[in-house]
Amino acid sequence: MTQYVYRFGGGVSDGGKGDKNLLGGKGANLAEMASIGLPVPPGFTISTPMCTTYYDEGEQFPQGLRDEVANGIAHIEGITAKRFGDASDPLLVSVRSGARVSMPGMMDTVLNLGLNDATVEGLVAASGDARFAWDSYRRFIQMYADVVLELDHGAFEEALEVAKEDRGFTLDTELSADDLKALVAEYKGLVEAEWGKPFPQDVHDQLWGAVGAVFGSWQSERAKVYRRLNDIPANWGTAVNVQAMVFGNMGETSATGVAFTRDPSKGDRAYYGEFLINAQGEDVVAGIRTPQYLTKTAREEAGAKAASMEEAMPAVYAELAAVFDRLETHYRDMQDIEFTVERAKLWMLQTRSGKRTAKAALKIAVDMAEEGLITRDEAIARVDPQALDQLLHPTLDPRATRDVIAKGLPASPGAASGAAVFDADTAEKRAAAGDSVILIRTETSPEDIHGMHAAKGILTARGGMTSHAAVVARGMGRPCVSGAGSVSIDAKAKVMSVGGREVREGDTLTIDGTTGEVMAGSVPTVQPELSGDFGTLMGWADAVRRLKVRANAETPHDCRTARDFGAEGVGLCRTEHMFFEGSRITAVRQMILAEDETGRRAALAKLLPEQRADFAAIFEVMAGLPVTIRLLDPPLHEFLPHEETDFADVAKAAGVDVDILKRRAAELHEFNPMLGHRGCRLAVTYPEIYEIQARAIFEAAIDVAAASGAAPIPEVMIPLVATRRELELMKAVVDKAAKAVFAERGTTIEYLVGTMIELPRAALRAGEIAEVGEFFSFGTNDLTQTTLGVSRDDAARFLGVYVEQGIYAKDPFVSIDVEGVGELVKLAADRGRATRPDIKLGICGEHGGDPASIDFCESVRLDYVSASPYRVPIARLAAAQAALKAR
Ligand code: ADP
Ligand code: MG
Ligand code: MG
Repeated sequence: MTQYVYRFGGGVSDGGKGDKNLLGGKGANLAEMASIGLPVPPGFTISTPMCTTYYDEGEQFPQGLRDEVANGIAHIEGITAKRFGDASDPLLVSVRSGARVSMPGMMDTVLNLGLNDATVEGLVAASGDARFAWDSYRRFIQMYADVVLELDHGAFEEALEVAKEDRGFTLDTELSADDLKALVAEYKGLVEAEWGKPFPQDVHDQLWGAVGAVFGSWQSERAKVYRRLNDIPANWGTAVNVQAMVFGNMGETSATGVAFTRDPSKGDRAYYGEFLINAQGEDVVAGIRTPQYLTKTAREEAGAKAASMEEAMPAVYAELAAVFDRLETHYRDMQDIEFTVERAKLWMLQTRSGKRTAKAALKIAVDMAEEGLITRDEAIARVDPQALDQLLHPTLDPRATRDVIAKGLPASPGAASGAAVFDADTAEKRAAAGDSVILIRTETSPEDIHGMHAAKGILTARGGMTSHAAVVARGMGRPCVSGAGSVSIDAKAKVMSVGGREVREGDTLTIDGTTGEVMAGSVPTVQPELSGDFGTLMGWADAVRRLKVRANAETPHDCRTARDFGAEGVGLCRTEHMFFEGSRITAVRQMILAEDETGRRAALAKLLPEQRADFAAIFEVMAGLPVTIRLLDPPLHEFLPHEETDFADVAKAAGVDVDILKRRAAELHEFNPMLGHRGCRLAVTYPEIYEIQARAIFEAAIDVAAASGAAPIPEVMIPLVATRRELELMKAVVDKAAKAVFAERGTTIEYLVGTMIELPRAALRAGEIAEVGEFFSFGTNDLTQTTLGVSRDDAARFLGVYVEQGIYAKDPFVSIDVEGVGELVKLAADRGRATRPDIKLGICGEHGGDPASIDFCESVRLDYVSASPYRVPIARLAAAQAALKAR
């Protein structure tokens, strides 16, 4: 026979902290606290499978359960020496819900159950406190009417308010026994009027009603919504905890409170909490009266007058503090606790691991490891890598006031203030002049990159979390709010309007990429701290991880940031943005417009010194570390103007006839540019493009090696390879350039030539591609697009629904599709290694900074992941966690 009821208290514990699935978190921890000898009122837990059985049986209780519950009540009666329903000295119980994971505020609790017109008199006599007894009864009726009978609680609250007002009181505690007795009569009248039946007097009816209500609350709308938001399966069910009541509302030596064993916001090692004298249950959190501080220090810091618990009840406080320490040592984690003091006697009502901010999580993990409470490995495992994001960017000063004018998507975290500008060139100009600017665009495109780089923050009216603006901003570590739909932008007039207000060029604006808020004026920010606990934990993580962590970076500034964050090389240096900057775009356009190779070479010759300088600057910052440089990838038409109005200017600058420009632009038009003339296909047709880029790389590397003594390790990466032959042709171009440069300079440097694996065919043929390529870098953005046949830029319309419907577990552009794309990665890694055992394998693209994807990379034993600079610490920690898991 299945057991449904598990007892605790009085030296008995049928369960313990390992039984969360069976007894729910609350029930398992009550049993655990009882078993280690802490003062827990006795009780029993009806297990979670009963919840499912209850629904399976058409909301009926099986007879077996009724018998077991009777035994459970007898257990409580035996320990308390009180009897349930006894008119002279009644046992009262609480009926509390408790699922496997805490669902704060989602399900209901009934306190003081077992009171009726007869037992209340018994409680008066036994306690010698009529006020307390009637207060308990009126609370019980109110809760029962609300939670079990589901009557409108407004009427009860109003009656209480009127009772206080009539007597000129402001606090519940001012009501006398007679006042409360009158209120009980009124409450019973309200129940009968609304429910059509008198308030249930049979204590067993009360009990089963409350148990049914707890099961019922599992299917309440709010609980369903909470489950959906938190991925909690409906079949988990909730447990029911029935527990002897202890009373915090028995006068001045009684109290109720909630506490954390450490500060859940800053992580400091200080007891943290609140309590209320002469109060019950949720009074502390319900804001009925202002709660008092637990410790003297906290009270003094807050400048509060009302005595702290430490001062008001020193003996019980000392006992409580000892329990805090005991619980922390026992659970080896910061605990969130509920307690009650009944006539100077302490009772523990709940404990669980406390929720905490990222900052507190970091500090608590490091402190506990240093205290010897947990190991360093455990400290590493306890901090959510994603949460570090909150700590790495400047954030708005929480004390500052905010004038929020719009809200968009929190596309790239961090906060920034600056002057509003509406185009990339102005952003660049003003930034060069020393201004902080916020770039505002309807949406961004590759042409805006220089402006995005110059800006402190980016705001767009359109586009989702994976829009161009969002992806690029995250890559650069720029705060970004995208898709602020209520905003309308007139870039020509340089004005943004929202909700009847206008923001013009130069007006100061603040954006918060962590919340998506857009604010008028400037709001002060605070800088992140990378030393201290952060540095300590990162050091431990670095000692544990196997995967190397590199950064996707394409400017010296980004490389510097990446190194500061601990990057061990550059995994992806895109070169296309270098083609847009300053006067280069003209040379690039001349190259595109040239009629033949001679023309193209003439234009490329102008680009060579500029590219060489770009690479040299990057190599200097990355001295001695590997730098993977991807040769030109996007289709050429991205470099030509799109607006009719720009054609004349561009033609003039490039020194060609406007008709030639238009004809060439039309020729370059593609129906599907993502699958068009791009990547290595550009250089198969125009090898001189890659030849010049390779030359720039080698010349720069030799220059930097000569000047600094620390030779960079260029890894020349060919994009969009599908076949061995493509890579062979491209490698020949690169090797030829290297040979030429080495001969001219009379020296050599080490370099590698490898390829992106971003097409399914390349993954399948990785075995033979590895005959040529010395490294693979999995370009999982494009590999996801080409494997799933989904365009990232067009996926927003349906991807949300796909995830909701469980077609993909997560957005496959955020977290790698392990089953599909992942299988291709694994297969390519295996086949590549079979040909070339020492082949270097890495991943670049957004997935390189996603903890779940990093875990996958560890499982297929790649050599490194590459993430945007601001995600480097996240990747370091995630890599350490993955290594620990793989042990
Ligand atoms: P929640 O999960 O919402 O906190 P609980 O079941 O823990 O719900 O209880 C609500 C309040 O009632 C808490 O303040 C709790 O400490 C208090 N409470 C629960 N059971 C008892 C009891 N047996 N005696 C006294 N107070 C109780
Ligand atoms: Mg609570
Ligand atoms: Mg609780």
